[in-house]
Amino acid sequence: MRVSSSEVAESLKLRGIKPSYQRMKIYEFLLNNRIHPTVDEIFKTLTPEIPTLSKTTIYNTLNLFVEKKLINVIVIDEKQTRYDVEQGLHGHFKCNTCEKIFDIELNQDILNSEKLENFEIDEYHFYFKGNCKKCNNK
Ligand SMILES: [Zn+2]
Ligand SMILES: [Zn+2]
Repeated sequence: MRVSSSEVAESLKLRGIKPSYQRMKIYEFLLNNRIHPTVDEIFKTLTPEIPTLSKTTIYNTLNLFVEKKLINVIVIDEKQTRYDVEQGLHGHFKCNTCEKIFDIELNQDILNSEKLENFEIDEYHFYFKGNCKKCNNK
């Protein structure tokens, strides 16, 4: 399901972000491509359409989105910062062969641990690494 630009503008406004053309394009890309992209991947895909877009703008826009809790940062790979638009409780699986990152559904029970009782959680990161189904069958 693709989102309309008025929906994109609404979501940005709801988080107190002024919906400029470039911001909207970047958020729209994240919503329509659930691939946990890096700045480089966003840059490569969007520059043919928006030649004035710079990596710095993308980087600053993503930082703003993170700050306003519109998206999350994933640091599953030490060498790459990736961005995730999916907000629900989930973990990530990184395939060491094709380097894709998959969303992994998690059971809410994982947060009900007694050991966490007196802690306030601001963020959580669940990472798994290995080989995905497709790469395993090769
Ligand atoms: Zn794979
Ligand atoms: Zn994710």
